[in-house]
Amino acid sequence: MEKQDYINGCEENLLHVYNRFPVVFDHGEGMRLFDTDGKSYLDFGSGIGVMAFGYGHPDYTRALHEQVDRLMHTSNLYYTPQLMRAAQAVCRASGMDKVFFTNSGAEAIEGAIKTAKKYAYKKTGKAGKNVIAFNHSFHGRTVGALSVTGNEHYREAFYPLMDGVRFADFNDIDSVRPLVDEDTCAIIVEPVQGEGGIIPAAKEFLLGLRQLCDENDMLLIFDEIQCGMGRTGHMYTFLGYDITPDVLTTAKALGGGVPVGAFAVSKKVGESSLQPGDHGTTYGGNPFVCAAVTASIELMESLDLPGHVRKTAPYLEEKLDELCKKHPDKVLGHRGLGFMQGLILSPDVKPGDVVVRALEKGLVVLTAGSDVLRLLPPLIAEKSDIDEMAEILDGVFMSF
Ligand SMILES: *Cc1c(COP(=O)(O)O)cnc(C)c1O
Repeated sequence: MEKQDYINGCEENLLHVYNRFPVVFDHGEGMRLFDTDGKSYLDFGSGIGVMAFGYGHPDYTRALHEQVDRLMHTSNLYYTPQLMRAAQAVCRASGMDKVFFTNSGAEAIEGAIKTAKKYAYKKTGKAGKNVIAFNHSFHGRTVGALSVTGNEHYREAFYPLMDGVRFADFNDIDSVRPLVDEDTCAIIVEPVQGEGGIIPAAKEFLLGLRQLCDENDMLLIFDEIQCGMGRTGHMYTFLGYDITPDVLTTAKALGGGVPVGAFAVSKKVGESSLQPGDHGTTYGGNPFVCAAVTASIELMESLDLPGHVRKTAPYLEEKLDELCKKHPDKVLGHRGLGFMQGLILSPDVKPGDVVVRALEKGLVVLTAGSDVLRLLPPLIAEKSDIDEMAEILDGVFMSF
């Protein structure tokens, strides 16, 4: 079959909710993807931050093959060795105390919100009503997650959403304080906003949120679905800031390509929130995904990918600096943390057009917001990969 046959075949039977780029990927190897014509692409998107150690790492694929042959699923009515190991791995990696496995990021957000509501309920006898979230945040597409997502474009067709959500400005603690009242049960924030345009939180801002939550006994939820798992140079971004949340959400790179997410809570929250009957999921934490979680975290530890990111990110930023200097009328600046970087483009250079031209030249990149080109390379990226990316983008910017 030809590339166009696959594209037509997909469009014929898929609900049209994505405007996909005209590529048909066939397989991957390390930092590279290959399409059905055999053309090779350097990947600086990682399937939106999922493929942290690239494609086809032998330790990871071996662990999955073994688990497929052993046991795929049992439901959460029973224990499995894989569930124990995965829970231990997440708690070890994050320093959190208790974990619940979900099937996606959005579902982890739902669990985090329910945890905060139940925590307030145990305390006061009524469920927590209000949640503070941030403008330009992204937390997922399910109704609860959409309710705390600060982007009207995603929300407008779906009102009424969950009641009681108030939006403050990111990195502006003074905009948060007036929104707190006695019915506020949680603040939810991405330590680095991803979809909103790769915007790192200032440390003082997160400290301010921590303090507000402590003063009012509200839960601080860090959504590290995109910025977690080594991407910013620490297993979780908050470990680098040294500010601990009450609830952590994680997904994307957590399963290295297998759909799995989780929310994890502190000891205090674990003891006084969700209990039997309050929450559940059929697939969540099945032996197959748990084998993937354990393999992912163990690989991240044995390869010391957070360390590699800390060591290599300055070089990446240097190359982005050069692109800004060389194309000042097209690339206005860059921002980010570790291997989570955004190039801010001028209004006449549309991020989507850059992505298309980069694909033609064999480079996969992403967009974020309306004016940002987003780079989320696999965490195994070396300087030579960064050089190749910068050279291709240089050519792309030259073509505008
Ligand atoms: C991707 C993302 C989500 C949603 O995860 P899904 O697995 O797509 O449901 C939530 N929060 C952040 C920060 C994300 O980047």
